[in-house]
This record gives sequence, C-alpha cells and structure tokens, in this order.
Amino acid sequence: MMGPKQEAQAALFYEFSLEEHVPQDHLLRSIERHLDLSGIRGYLSDFYSHTGRPSVDPELMIRMLLVGYCFGIRSERRLCEEVHLNLAYRWFCSLDLTDRLPDHSTFSKNRHGRFRESELLRHVFETTVAQCIAEGLVSGQRMAIDASLIEAEATKQHSASQEEWDAAQIDAQTAPRAVRKYLETLDEAAFGAASPVKPKFISYSDPASQWTAAHKAPAFFAYSDNYLIDTDHSVIVDVEATRSIRQAEVGSTKTMLDRVKKRFDLHPERLIADTAYGSAPMLGWLVDRGIDPHIPVIDKAGRPDGTWSRTDFEWDAENDQYICPEGHALKQFRRNYSDPNRGLSGKGTARYRALKLTCQACPSKAKCCPNTDARKITREEHEDARQIARDIAKTRQYKVSMKLRKKVEMLFAHLKRILGLGRLRLRGPCGANDEFLLAATAQNLRKLAKIFPAPQQMRTA
Ligand code: SF4
Repeated sequence: MMGPKQEAQAALFYEFSLEEHVPQDHLLRSIERHLDLSGIRGYLSDFYSHTGRPSVDPELMIRMLLVGYCFGIRSERRLCEEVHLNLAYRWFCSLDLTDRLPDHSTFSKNRHGRFRESELLRHVFETTVAQCIAEGLVSGQRMAIDASLIEAEATKQHSASQEEWDAAQIDAQTAPRAVRKYLETLDEAAFGAASPVKPKFISYSDPASQWTAAHKAPAFFAYSDNYLIDTDHSVIVDVEATRSIRQAEVGSTKTMLDRVKKRFDLHPERLIADTAYGSAPMLGWLVDRGIDPHIPVIDKAGRPDGTWSRTDFEWDAENDQYICPEGHALKQFRRNYSDPNRGLSGKGTARYRALKLTCQACPSKAKCCPNTDARKITREEHEDARQIARDIAKTRQYKVSMKLRKKVEMLFAHLKRILGLGRLRLRGPCGANDEFLLAATAQNLRKLAKIFPAPQQMRTA
C-alpha cells in the first residue's frame, strides 16, 4: 500500500540530539578519539589581544579545516556550507543545530595572521605525530622519503620568461602577497637558492612555484610535497614544501631528519629513498650520522664502450690506491707531498693513475684503456659512503626496503585521489606549506582512525 504523501510541517519544538544521529562507525567518531586540541588555546594565547571583541574559537577553525582536508573540501566557502548542513561535521566541530558558523573570510585572516606567525598548523601536525608515537605506530627505525609534484594555483598564460621577469621592475611594497613571499624566500635553499639554474618561466601570480614536468608529461607550475614517513605503519613523521627542483627536495631530507630528531628524538637506522637522493654529498651526510642509506647510488662510472669501469678495480683503502684486474696499483701520488690536498680537483675528486710503462706492456690494455697511454680512475668525494650504499644494495634487507619505499608513493596517491589535493588552492611558499601540513595531519588522523576505530558507544558531552 502506498503511504501518505510527505508534507513539510513546521514544528514548533524539536527534541533532537546530534549525538544520536551521527553513526557509531562514522570516520569522524574515530578521529575524535585521537585528536587532542586541548593545548591550542594556551599555545596561541600570546598571539591574541587581551582586549577587544572576542574572536572565533581557534579550535573550532582547526576542527573545520580538518573536516575539510579529511573529506577533500578545501574551499573555505564551501566548507562553511558543508559544516552548516552536515550533522556529523557539526557534531565533530562541537556545534549545536542552531550555532552559527564563522564567516569563510575568518580562515583567510587567521591563516595569514596568527596561525602563520605561531606555526599553529605545524603544532597541530606534530600533535598527531606524537599521538601516533604514543599509540606505538612509530618505531623510528626505518624511514622512507620521497617528494611529489602538486600543481600550483598558477597558469602559463599569466607567466613571463626569465628575461621578461628580470626586466620587470617589481615593487616589493605594492606587489601581491605571493610575490612578496617569493622575494622573502629567495635566499632559502628550499625555494630560491638551492640551484643556480634559472627556471624557464616564472608565474606572476605565484613566482615561487616551479615550471616543471614529470615523466615527459606537459610542464606546469608546481610545488613539491616532501614526506618523511616511518615505514612500520606509514605514519608521516614530517612534511615540508619546497620548490620542485631536486636540490631543494634533497635538501629537505636534512631539514626533516634534523627536525624529527629534535622534536621526537627519532633517529632512523636506515633511510629509504629513490635514485634522486643518491648523490655523493647526501650519502656522505647520512653515513656521517650513522644512518644506513638504502638508496640507489647515482653512479656515472660505467663506460659505454664496454671497457672496464671503476667497479672492476679494487679499492685498497689502507694504501690509498686502486688495484687493477691485472694486479697493478693505480696511485694518486708516486712521491710524498707535504700538501695533503695536492692532486684533488675543485670538487674534491681525486685521480689515480697506473704507470705508463706497465699499461703499455699489459695484455689487457685493449679492455682497459685502448685510447690512452695509461689508465686513470677518479675517486669522488664521499666515495666511502657511496661504497657503503653499493654494499647495502646487495643485501636482502635492501630488497625489502625497495618494497617499503612504495608506501610513500601510496600516501601520495591517497593524497591526490582520496583527499583531492592534486592542485593547490593557496598561493606562495607559505600557502603550499599550510596545505601540505593540513593534508598530512588529515592523513595521520585517518590512519589512527583506521587502526584504532571508535568503540561502539556514545560520547559523553
Ligand atoms: S692497462 Fe694498466 S691499469 Fe689496465 S689492467 Fe693493464 S696494467 Fe692494469
């Protein structure tokens, strides 16, 4: 039997409990268990005036932003509409049915003001990392690092070539905020000073973003989102925004490893990364700190003509010499010099030479040095660290590490596909940093919620 037609009836009084209407297995119920924002008001107290009109509760704004990043709603205007309409979002933000929401412009004012000055978003992110550590999800023994390109809020149509940009007279006082931030961060390795190479195009709307391309795809303006994760449960232990150039991404590794050591006393036994991180200085830096580099070495020693490469020669550290396959020594010096730096090239590369007479009479000369009188071999700075990385690459643990490395890529895939962060909404280095911090916080909270879901009981008010 067909029931009566549904008619809207304006009731005078409702008995309504948000608590009862939010499903027990809702993601936000599990996130609520692990979110500790109790320290926010104390953390921000120095950034608020003690007089004047009361502000919007900062905890409410952070809760709303976390709802947005957990469910892929990054427009603050739309976020206000969604929280207004969605009961679960209201419940999470401790808003009753009749409570008014802050205006969307409040977020922008706070983001550019006290949130940024106080580094509140980093504080919230680190609170979730501390929670993951407390729950036993982070051992700190094996960490992996990687970077992913995130498209910036900038287009080619509104950009200039390097020459046009240099010729333009930019007044830092009247320039847009993103341009001012670009000028302020030019001397930072993460944004301007990591590489002397000038970009091909510079965006007028977000000049700190990098004109770049991945996997031979069309180029676009982007920032790099750098994640340092603990591979036990793929918890993001640190995050950093940089320009999308390799030097800046690799430089962020040092920043993040130093920071997790300082903040959480985490010092990994091994660091897992791809070839981009396998430069000699990076490997040397890791080995100096007692971290095993599970990283493919960037090695250009191979020879395209099929003659013996450096790896065919044995290194004799005790006597500072190489031994060739025929058993002869290649030395840096045949005499003793008082200057220990003598013989080094400008980049700290040392050259080892065989004796001309020995090579001339050698039966293997055609396989070794067919076009020169005697064989020469160069030894890069940090070659010991490179050799350690090469030796690690032969072990079984290294194979395991290469599988674990995929966990960072999975997090980036989740970030783009599920959280919808394929393109930034905010401009400038600080805007990118804010978005990456909020997204990483949301990913860690979702991880905690998945591993430790809320028990099926009601929250006490
Ligand atoms: S050519 Fe010289 S360096 Fe090469 S194998 Fe013969 S002796 Fe050794």
